[in-house]
Amino acid sequence: MFNKKTIEDIEVKGKRVLVRVDFNVPLKDNVITDENRIMGALPTINYLIEKGAKVILCSHLGKPKADNLEKYTLAPVAKRLSEILGKEVVFPAELEVVGEKTRAAVAAMNEGDVILLENTRYRAEETKNGEAFSKDLASIADIFVNDAFGSAHRAHSSTVGVADYLDTAVCGYLIQKELKFLGEAVETPERPFCAILGGAKVSDKIKVIENLLTKVDSLIIGGGMAYTFLKAQGHEIGKSLVEEDKLEYALQMLESAKAKGVELLLPVDHLVAAEFSADAEAISTEGVEIPEGTMGLDIGAKTAAKYAEVASNAKTIIWNGPMGVFEFEKFAGGTIAVAKALADSNATTIIGGGDSAAAVNILGFGDKMTHISTGGGASLEFLEGIALPGIEALNDK
Ligand code: AMP
Repeated sequence: MFNKKTIEDIEVKGKRVLVRVDFNVPLKDNVITDENRIMGALPTINYLIEKGAKVILCSHLGKPKADNLEKYTLAPVAKRLSEILGKEVVFPAELEVVGEKTRAAVAAMNEGDVILLENTRYRAEETKNGEAFSKDLASIADIFVNDAFGSAHRAHSSTVGVADYLDTAVCGYLIQKELKFLGEAVETPERPFCAILGGAKVSDKIKVIENLLTKVDSLIIGGGMAYTFLKAQGHEIGKSLVEEDKLEYALQMLESAKAKGVELLLPVDHLVAAEFSADAEAISTEGVEIPEGTMGLDIGAKTAAKYAEVASNAKTIIWNGPMGVFEFEKFAGGTIAVAKALADSNATTIIGGGDSAAAVNILGFGDKMTHISTGGGASLEFLEGIALPGIEALNDK
C-alpha cells in the first residue's frame, strides 16, 4: 500500500493532469477562514505548473444539498488560489462539474495553465462512486493525481472511480508525505515505538488499539476512553464517561497487551469535577480511584509526568486523541503536557489528525512535530491497518 508512484515518477509535460486536491476549507459567508488546505496543495500544483502540465484541479467542499448549492461553491477558492499563484485560475462553475464549458476550457489550455472544477459533490454520483461522473472526470484528463489524503478513505468518483478509466494514476506530494511518515511508523518504526491514544470513546478506537497492539512497545491511554479500562480493572470511576458494553473488550485488550509484552499504561491519578463544565472546580485525586459524584476530565499530574517519561524514551511516537477535555482550559493540562513531551523529544513524532492535530497547532507546537497528518478519519483508518481505497487506486512503483 505504501509503494505508490508519485508525480515525479511520470512525464507530465503537455499532459492534461486531473488533480484531486483537498480544498474543503472552512468558509463563513463564502469567505475562507483558514487557508491551510490551499497552502498544503501548492507544492504539487507548483511542480505540475513548472513541468508544463495542464493542471485541472478538483475537490469537494462540505456537504451541499440541492437547495443550498451556492453556499458550497468553490468560487472563493478559485479566486484566492489565483491570487496566491499569481496567475489566472479558470473556474467554469458548472453545476454538472464537467459540462460543455469545462470541456471547451480544457481544450483551450496551454502548458502551465490551471483550471479548478466546481465542487465535485454538486454531482450526486460523487459520493456513490458513480460510473457516469467517474467517466466524465476521466474524459478531460490524461493522468490522475490524488493529493487529498483527507478523502483517501472514501471510495468516491473523484478519489477512486476516475482512476479506473485512466492508465496513469499517481500520488502528489501531500499523500506521498503521509505514506512516508504514517507508513514507515507503522510498518518499520524505530524502537521503542510508543502510541498514545485518547479521546472520548473506546468504541471509536477499537480497531486502532487492536492493530497497534501488534506493533508498539508501549500503548498509553488517556482521555474519556481510559475510564472504561479502569472500571474493567475494578476501580471506582464515579460519574466518568464509560462504555459498559466495552468492559469485557477492555479486559481482553489488557490481557492481549500482557501476552504480547506491550506495556499498556492507564492513568494513575486524575483531575476530576462534580460536573461537565468549563467553570467546574478542578480537583486532583490522590490516586487512581475517582470519588463518588465526580467525573474524570483530565489525567492527573503523576500520570502526565509518567506519560511524558515513557514518551521521552521512545524513538517513534504516534498520538491520536486528547488526554482530557482540552476545550476547557482547566482540563487541558494533560493534553498540553503530552504535546510538550512530544515537542521536546528527539523521536519521530506523528500526530494522527483530528483533535490532537488541532490541539498541537493551537498550543504552538506544530512545527516541533515530525509530521501532522492532514486527515482525521483517513489517518485513523490507516492506523487501523485498513487499506485506503484512494491509495489503493494508484499505480504501484
Ligand atoms: P475523539 O473525537 O474521540 O478524539 O474525542 C475528542 C473529544 O474527547 C474531545 O472533545 C474531548 O473533550 C473529549 N474527552 C477527552 N477526555 C474526556 C473525558 N475525560 N471525559 C469526557 N470527554 C472527554
